[in-house]
Amino acid sequence: MTKFLSIQEAMNTSSGRVAIRGWIHRERGSNKLKFVTLRDSSNIIQCVFERAKFEEQWSEIDKLQVEAAIEIEGEIKADARAPTGFEVQAEKIVIVGKSDTFPIAKDQSVEFLADNRHLWLRSRKMTAILKVRSTVFGAIDEYFRSEGFYEYHSPIFQAVQCEGGSELFSVNYFDKKDVFLAQTWQLYAEPAIFALEKIYTISPSFRAEKSKTSRHLTEYWHAEMEVAWANFKDIQDYGEKLIKHIVKAVLEKNKVELEILGRDWKKLVPTVEKPFVRMTYTEALKILKEKCKMEVEWGKDLRTIEEEKLVALYDVPVICTHYPKKVKAFYMTEDPKNPEVVQGCDFLAPEGNGEIIGGSHREHDLEKIKERLIEQGEDPTQYEFYLDTRRYGSVPHGGFGLGVERVIKWVCGLDSIKDAIAFPRTMERYKP
Ligand code: ATP
Ligand code: MG
Repeated sequence: MTKFLSIQEAMNTSSGRVAIRGWIHRERGSNKLKFVTLRDSSNIIQCVFERAKFEEQWSEIDKLQVEAAIEIEGEIKADARAPTGFEVQAEKIVIVGKSDTFPIAKDQSVEFLADNRHLWLRSRKMTAILKVRSTVFGAIDEYFRSEGFYEYHSPIFQAVQCEGGSELFSVNYFDKKDVFLAQTWQLYAEPAIFALEKIYTISPSFRAEKSKTSRHLTEYWHAEMEVAWANFKDIQDYGEKLIKHIVKAVLEKNKVELEILGRDWKKLVPTVEKPFVRMTYTEALKILKEKCKMEVEWGKDLRTIEEEKLVALYDVPVICTHYPKKVKAFYMTEDPKNPEVVQGCDFLAPEGNGEIIGGSHREHDLEKIKERLIEQGEDPTQYEFYLDTRRYGSVPHGGFGLGVERVIKWVCGLDSIKDAIAFPRTMERYKP
């Protein structure tokens, strides 16, 4: 049996006979020679076929098109003119899968690439992003496990809502109508802290986002955590350490990919090395007024444009805390010093990438949380199972949710969140 090396491994051996396999990334030929750039998951390499060595197979080799799958054996050597500095002089070829004319060529529209997403995944751009994505998921697991968290899973079919009804997807659940897809795990996570104390998950969340922004998907991967006994500062500290860990992992493992993406990775270094900027909502309004000449009325949520101006002043994420009670969810604790604001925080990523984490300290008093539910127009009787968390040994606790694609968009320097996931789902796009 032939022992195949990855293209990268073959280049690392740098000379001698190698066997490699992959897909044709580019090809050009003449009567006597065929040049093929071969691609596998590790890299690309130039391969040369001389007609004199392949008289019998030549007509087939000559017809090979982009994306055909082939196995090659031959001599590898350094060649400064080749795209990745090496070339294989082919001695043997097996054509494993021929390719029709590949629909994707240069300069195709965003729409065309979206329609052909299943093929576009093979591009160097998407391959690089998907590798970074894999690092990000691994780093999230690594971080939480290293801090003693248990991985815990909540249902996707849910019968209560947490983040506001307008973004719910209802599903046909047999003959039932009051079933939704999860927007967050939170109401089903809080009951579990009484068993496990520190829990996390990475799971899809669904939001019927009607706005077309560069940072909203209808299906996204949500890394969430919940911790018993935690105070508000603990929640912010976990978030900061998590993001530092993710960015550090990407810088360690994916510089090559960031370069393929044209991402200036030096801009990510301060996030790993410096403390994040923490400020209250009220301080943020003051800074916006003084440094950005933007006036925001106290009590209004920050808009994208205001968040962008604010983060542009710093090279690390900004943790904005203590928002007005009315713009935040019912479960956030009031600030003991000022009941007009709540102990909730948004982490805003640098370079205009917007909110990547939303978190809070959770109200643990039964009567207060019922009051807040009613204030927000909810019916507390629908939340009985959740209110039990406040009836039997309630403790201070808190948690946050991180949008994984938002983080990938930021670290990769992407224009749109749609490229941070293989098959993006938005209001308009649910195929292929
Ligand atoms: P936004 O104001 O940007 O819509 P949000 O306040 O609705 O965010 P949360 O409910 O706090 O967000 O959700 C937690 C995290 O999930 C957010 O910080 C963000 O990173 C991510 N997130 C929220 N909605 C989406 C979405 N539609 N697509 C991708 N990620 C999202
Ligand atoms: Mg939202």
